[in-house]
Amino acid sequence: MRFEEMTLVKLVKLVKERKVTSEELTKYFIARCEEKKKYNAVLEVFEDAIERAREMDKKIEQGFCGKLAGVPVIIKDNILFEGKKCTCASKFLEDYVAQYSSTVALKLLKEGAIIIARANMDEFAMGSSTENSAYGVTHNALDFERVPGGSSGGSASAVALGLAPLALGTDTGGSIRQPSAYNGIVGIKPTYGRVSRYGVVAFSSSIEQVGPMTKTAEDNAYALEVLAGKSDKDETSVDVEIDFLSDIEKPIAGIRIGLVSEVEDLLKGMESEKAYKSAIEALKAQGVEFVKVSMPSFKVALPCYYIIAPAEATSNLGRFDGIKYTKRQEGAKDINETYAKSRSAGFGKEVKRRIMLGNFVLSSGFFDAYYNKAKAVQQKLKDESKKIFEVCDAVLLPTTVGEAFKLGQITDPVSMYKEDYFTIPANIMGLPAISIPFEKGSAGMPLSVQIMGREFDEKTIYRIAHSIERR
Ligand code: GLN
Repeated sequence: MRFEEMTLVKLVKLVKERKVTSEELTKYFIARCEEKKKYNAVLEVFEDAIERAREMDKKIEQGFCGKLAGVPVIIKDNILFEGKKCTCASKFLEDYVAQYSSTVALKLLKEGAIIIARANMDEFAMGSSTENSAYGVTHNALDFERVPGGSSGGSASAVALGLAPLALGTDTGGSIRQPSAYNGIVGIKPTYGRVSRYGVVAFSSSIEQVGPMTKTAEDNAYALEVLAGKSDKDETSVDVEIDFLSDIEKPIAGIRIGLVSEVEDLLKGMESEKAYKSAIEALKAQGVEFVKVSMPSFKVALPCYYIIAPAEATSNLGRFDGIKYTKRQEGAKDINETYAKSRSAGFGKEVKRRIMLGNFVLSSGFFDAYYNKAKAVQQKLKDESKKIFEVCDAVLLPTTVGEAFKLGQITDPVSMYKEDYFTIPANIMGLPAISIPFEKGSAGMPLSVQIMGREFDEKTIYRIAHSIERR
């Protein structure tokens, strides 16, 4: 059987019916990781996974029926899994071994998943192409010469290459959705607070979320039901009903979808306009009602992000000092020099750029002009979105500006930042947004659209996504 072509839901069923054992599946996907090694999607395959799968088979035989029982899963390299390395694709954390497991890893394990590998990423999740990894770039699953997107490029490429039916990513400004789009898979950034961030290395704590990356919307909803929920260890996680699947098959006729005029202006002439337009046609054919809406601050979400995210990153990365658990540089004459030497050697270029930017916007004299202003813009965006959701149930957006670009093609940072034009607003507003492949662009690479929903209304966006997928 060609397990790499099967959906998560299908594989869960096969294991449950004992048509395949967890051990067989795990060996199969590990062999695939080996076979596709040149893509550099995973940084490490966990050798003990097969043993864990064997144990799982015994449990299944004794009646255990977790939602992911026996199925291989890959996690991004910024998610702690006890006893395993977690490097955030940084040289600085080269030898760091997780001392405990993140809530999301524990949730996967509780449902019987076999975590088989950790995926490559941009260092500390800063980037849009996975070219910022200290362990080499990841290649796009569909075109070896192209980037897989980022920062969860390893996770996206892994799912598209069939190295596992499910991978976890994190999304601070688009890092799940943009790579999902570039590799032709489905990825969601859940509502802020939907998933616990405990044990996930923090970049910009007030806007990021962990989310599933899968082949289909149904798989994605299935996986998010496992990951979601309040945890006592993350006070920003929220206790709201978890049900993403019960409406997924319902027709979408009558649903009101907003089309943002500022987005349509921005899109003119961009490659993604094509996917956006044909998505409108497809949704129209399914009886969706369109509402023209306005979000004047949409355009400034990007600059707002590049103040808030570096500011928080500066603070979050302060703990990496060469003393506690990052690699220390020897030969310094005092502790300050130890910090300076270690941090200079440990962090890559983009991370340093963000730290400098963050310190600048937080420094006295500039704090009001930058940080406080960005927070005010964030509030404005939230207010604008509230208005929109009074008249519609979801909003249609493109995911990216175009198809996956070539490795090495974008070299200046600001052009790279602009990659996230359409994904960042959902993070700034804390709203859920899912990316679904829709069309092919001029180079034959996938173009995707996004459905952004009301706070904690993942259920509706999954329903729309599923309907788009089946058209
Ligand atoms: N590309 C964006 C950045 O570099 C988003 C990254 C992310 O979502 N982690 O900050």
